[in-house]
Amino acid sequence: MENIEKVFNLINKKRDEMIALQKDLSAIPALAPQNGGDGEWEKSKKLLEWLDNMGISDVELINVPDERVSSGRRPNIIATIPGKSESRTFWIMTHLDIVPPGDIKLWQTDPYKVIKKGDRLYGRGVEDNQQSMVASLFAASSILEADIVPAYTVKLLFVSDEETGSEYGINYLLRNHNLFRQRDLILVPDGGNPEGSMIEIAEKSILWLQFRTIGRQCHASMPEHGINAFVAGSDLVLRLNKLNQEYSIKNPIFNPPISTFTPTKKEANVPNVNTIPGDDVFYLDCRILPSINLDDVLQRFNEIIEDVEQKYGVEVSFSVIQRSSSPPTPGDTPLVQSLKIALKTVYGISGNEMGIGGGTVAAHLRKRGFETVVWSKIDETAHQPNEYCIIDNMIGDSKVMAKIMAGR
Ligand SMILES: [Zn+2]
Repeated sequence: MENIEKVFNLINKKRDEMIALQKDLSAIPALAPQNGGDGEWEKSKKLLEWLDNMGISDVELINVPDERVSSGRRPNIIATIPGKSESRTFWIMTHLDIVPPGDIKLWQTDPYKVIKKGDRLYGRGVEDNQQSMVASLFAASSILEADIVPAYTVKLLFVSDEETGSEYGINYLLRNHNLFRQRDLILVPDGGNPEGSMIEIAEKSILWLQFRTIGRQCHASMPEHGINAFVAGSDLVLRLNKLNQEYSIKNPIFNPPISTFTPTKKEANVPNVNTIPGDDVFYLDCRILPSINLDDVLQRFNEIIEDVEQKYGVEVSFSVIQRSSSPPTPGDTPLVQSLKIALKTVYGISGNEMGIGGGTVAAHLRKRGFETVVWSKIDETAHQPNEYCIIDNMIGDSKVMAKIMAGR
């Protein structure tokens, strides 16, 4: 029997243990203080117990001080399995924290008591992000048990605070510790699709803006005495919404493959029908292909604004509420290639490089020049009531990770 087949058989045999670990993890709600919780400390202790029992002994704990939680710290754990080569490290990063269950009436079971129904486990955190956390742990322990030395050193990274900004998790580690090297392989199994074919390597840049148009308020029966900010703002919003025609380049890895400039929130203006509003405020959510320079886009906004100001005699200003961009991970990066081979072996499918609309934790790593791949086989029930994990996905993903660890 080929070595990797031995590992796959071991993983198959650990189905019940994997379910038991899921139960243990969900039983300890790891909520951030701003979500009314006490952090990840208790959950991390449970994880450390499991690591110990699995014979994974090289474990480092990086605690980030946080006075808002009773332990005073937010834990980040690195478990290391030495490989044949030190030249790269294969990282698998998963997060300890969860989001609150939301309206409890929408749950059919207790969110903190994992229930198995058919081939699924139900409970808060079982998919986001424990499916991958458990998969990575059993991939590593099965490799060890099969006496296989991984091709590269494997590091399982379990972080805090992913759901509420990562300031006590990956952002802290990136600022204060030199954990990663440019050549490392970094997998963030915290996104994907039900087929398992989506290999996320890029995200669009995000620009959120507020536009304010100032005219002059007056009685609606004498419109010529005022300047209608609503009318000018409406012209402006239509021009901005059409910018995708100007920035028309396409990138087929994204869906939609274009940049989008979408008007969203609108603030209320006057409370009565017979007043012409002198103040108009709306918001724009832009998702822009990474190849487009955001400063150029902002400059274009200024030109359009000048046009509208001249046409209507209004004053327009805008402020940037959020701006973020990160360089895409190249599709030919070694981790994408290894992942594709593993997907063929385990699931019999071809993986596709894809981009998404933005806002994931991988962007923190990509911004600092670390090539990062997001992948998992999930039904995308994260943050929903009745969150579930398909047990076969947890087992399959564990094999995919083990296959990448083992190398060719
Ligand atoms: Zn997540």
